[in-house]
Amino acid sequence: EDPRRLHNLTVLEDVFISIKTTGDYHEARVTLLIDTWFQNAKKQVHFFTDREDNELNERLGGHLIKTACETGHQRTKLCCKMQAELDFFVKNFNTKWFCHFDDDNYVNVHTLVKTLKKFNPLENVYLGRPSLTKAMERKKFWFATGGAGFCLSHALVARMSPHISDGKFADSCERVKVPDDCTIGFISGGRIELYLRGKYGVLQSNTLFKGDPEISFSHGYFGGRYNRINIAGPFDTEQDPTRFKSIHCLLYPETGWCPKSEDV
Ligand code: UDP
Repeated sequence: EDPRRLHNLTVLEDVFISIKTTGDYHEARVTLLIDTWFQNAKKQVHFFTDREDNELNERLGGHLIKTACETGHQRTKLCCKMQAELDFFVKNFNTKWFCHFDDDNYVNVHTLVKTLKKFNPLENVYLGRPSLTKAMERKKFWFATGGAGFCLSHALVARMSPHISDGKFADSCERVKVPDDCTIGFISGGRIELYLRGKYGVLQSNTLFKGDPEISFSHGYFGGRYNRINIAGPFDTEQDPTRFKSIHCLLYPETGWCPKSEDV
């Protein structure tokens, strides 16, 4: 990356988008993303998984990365994936922004880029939906919930590099014994308390993710209820249980499989 480029306003090509997935979700979740928002950022989006899947990899234009990480929800396994995401970014992209989302997220790519434009990637910027934890020495500190997506500026990734490179991210997870997203919060600023207060602009948390203005949406069952975006159509909840197809047609009505207005 030419450092001079970092001074210009962010465009889509400046954003690396990594998605954590797993073998069991290739069909159930990733194909839906391929049909929808992946089309808006094909070159930027990379999926990190735990099972080889040549057919899916082909559909993703070679952007399915089979990590050496094991399948499972446990901290070690998920931290292993985040390590792979960070390593891949540093090695192959190293652009202005590193963004992470889960595979049950719909990402409004246009709003994401528009939002990132407002921030300087040469400053330490950490964007996401804030969560509070007391994990470390019972001190409170903020981190961005991984399930809602977060972005780190080029400068912040570079600053975190001593705690990321050579497997050090996964090591940190084990040492601090907190989940991957929480560990990102810890090594991005938790080390020096002042950062937590935003003194150096490190923690520019906001509520831009999963909500207003809409950058990412997710879906899932919680407490026996399906939590998803409440929009009327064009597809009903049987045809489109996650509502992602409906969101996509609302945002990109010209998409081939979206009902044309005269059909509705
Ligand atoms: N995931 C994973 N390995 C697994 C299970 C889940 O990498 O064995 C990923 C999954 O693909 C998703 C994220 O972890 O991107 C969160 O998974 P899920 O939505 O199932 O869990 P929850 O959001 O309820 O924690």
